[in-house]
Amino acid sequence: MQKIAIIGGGPAGLTAAIEGAKSGLSVTLYEKLEIGENIRCAEGFFDTLNMLGKPRYGVRFKVEEIELKIKSKYVFPCDDKINIWMIDRREWQKGLAEEARSLGVNIIENITITKEFFIELVWEYDWIIDSSGAISITSQVYGFHKYYKDTSAVTVQYTLAGDFSEYYGRIKLVLEDPYTGYYWIFPKSKNEANVGLGVFKSTKLNLWAKLDRVLEKEGLSSYKITKKMGGLCPTVKLDRLVYDNVLLAGDAAGLVSPLHGGGIDTACISGKMAIQNILHNRVDCYERDLSNILDRKLEGERELFERLVSLNSGVIDYIIKIVHRSGRTLGDYGVLNGRIHKFLQLGIIQALLPTKKK
Ligand SMILES: Cc1cc2nc3c(=O)[nH]c(=O)nc-3n(C[C@H](O)[C@H](O)[C@H](O)COP(=O)(O)OP(=O)(O)OC[C@H]3O[C@@H](n4cnc5c(N)ncnc54)[C@H](O)[C@@H]3O)c2cc1C
Repeated sequence: MQKIAIIGGGPAGLTAAIEGAKSGLSVTLYEKLEIGENIRCAEGFFDTLNMLGKPRYGVRFKVEEIELKIKSKYVFPCDDKINIWMIDRREWQKGLAEEARSLGVNIIENITITKEFFIELVWEYDWIIDSSGAISITSQVYGFHKYYKDTSAVTVQYTLAGDFSEYYGRIKLVLEDPYTGYYWIFPKSKNEANVGLGVFKSTKLNLWAKLDRVLEKEGLSSYKITKKMGGLCPTVKLDRLVYDNVLLAGDAAGLVSPLHGGGIDTACISGKMAIQNILHNRVDCYERDLSNILDRKLEGERELFERLVSLNSGVIDYIIKIVHRSGRTLGDYGVLNGRIHKFLQLGIIQALLPTKKK
């Protein structure tokens, strides 16, 4: 039986662990803290490729509407083509860990894989799946850790306790100058929400100060901050995903959406793919197989993002207004389900969006 070590108990690692155990592999998962205790996320579960379905644990509600504000406010209903749930990630990950354990995965918590330990694992196990996020332990051993800083969106976020009943069932995204990115209000319940800000292009702005201003603007300054965190979202897939017997998955592989910063779905998909490729003796095809599934989505999102950032917010607002007025949903346009090329091919969008720079 092949022995697999998984580094990191986030979405990528837990999905790989379950897939591995179900496939009859011997799986050990190492997590630096306790599963579910090291989470940096707004907790929106975007199943953009319709490959994952409803999360099995921790669901708070299915998102029914997306509120998008640029100059004006636009509310887009989420039809059944768009699978977005608000989840409690701690509960979700703890549920997945329990499931993995019941399938025979050996989960070892509160152990950090250091460079030295990593080298031992490489010798001891047939395969390693590095799902340690950004900055991955593999990158520290192989010397490409700078890659993540150079290619990541930067985020800051508060979890707030207060009255969010008016947001329940919807998520809110606001694009505003003078940074390239957006801020979000993602309610987890009527009394709690993640409110954060992400910047996709480097800036010297103090993001925490910007986020405090967002709280003021949204009338949330008096709400109690129960958690404060931020982090990198690596939005450029690494060209190389296999190092000796180590496969990178999730954020470690740079799979976060370059358009909206979501990475749970691609983390799960890559964790599952890594196991499938090991199982079918196709590790040398892992990069290609993953590209076949994810590149269309990730490249489409990047193309849309790059075209949008060359416009001022007034023009972006005008484009969204036209899309909104058409009465069609974001699902019809493929904007949030991996078919952005379809959206980019629309005549009206081609007329308004600048041509992609060659
Ligand atoms: C502020 C913020 C908001 C976000 N909001 C969303 C969102 O709403 N929706 C969405 O889809 N995505 C969101 N993302 C992105 C999403 O959180 C990540 O893409 C996703 O968590 C990636 O999963 P992963 O398993 O690859 O890595 P991670 O979730 O980062 O998990 C890595 C795990 O590895 C462990 N680990 C790290 N190093 C070691 C080591 N040396 N030894 C042992 N264990 C180790 C960590 O403790 C952690 O548990 C957000 C990101 C940020 C920063």
